[in-house]
Amino acid sequence: MSGSSDPTASAGPRIAVYPGSFDPLHGGHLDIMRRCKPLFDRVVVGVLENEEKRPLFSVDERVAMISEVVGEDPIFTVQSFSGLLVDFVESLGARAIIRGLRAVSDFEYEFQMALMNRRLDPGIETVFLTPREEYTFVSSRLVKEVFRLGGDLSGLVPVPVLRRLEERLRPETN
Ligand code: ADP
Repeated sequence: MSGSSDPTASAGPRIAVYPGSFDPLHGGHLDIMRRCKPLFDRVVVGVLENEEKRPLFSVDERVAMISEVVGEDPIFTVQSFSGLLVDFVESLGARAIIRGLRAVSDFEYEFQMALMNRRLDPGIETVFLTPREEYTFVSSRLVKEVFRLGGDLSGLVPVPVLRRLEERLRPETN
């Protein structure tokens, strides 16, 4: 290993950032988060403030939902961020970015992002984790679409998220 970016060089807690839109959180995200637990001392779930994507839930709502689901577990903290991911990662003293890979179709974009982030900050590694097969088809977009059409999401989405989807997308039934 050469150069000053040797990832084995530093001691201290192993902190990872798991970034995403999480609009909303679902079982695939939670599966990836569970897989981080034996690998890292701390995992910061980074909720992207991305106005261009016109999210269903505000960034504060998304942070609140994720905190409600994983907040009891001391390994996880939930924070919003905007701007460059590597700057956010650096500001936390973290060395790893966690990304989930569902299928080959995710790969090309994720690979480009990982290489761009490495170019921006060679000291940060991207770690790809894969969920259980039963979550490989789950996405936030599909969760919203199926919910709007009245489909059953039990087991795919945590209860606090289901509750907020009900409030937001089926207000007349409350
Ligand atoms: P995006 O970041 O593309 O807007 P999300 O915010 O929902 O999508 O995803 C955040 C991270 O979680 C990404 O790394 C994404 O690949 C991963 N992810 C999303 N859905 C799943 C799933 N069903 N299984 C595993 N990883 C997932």
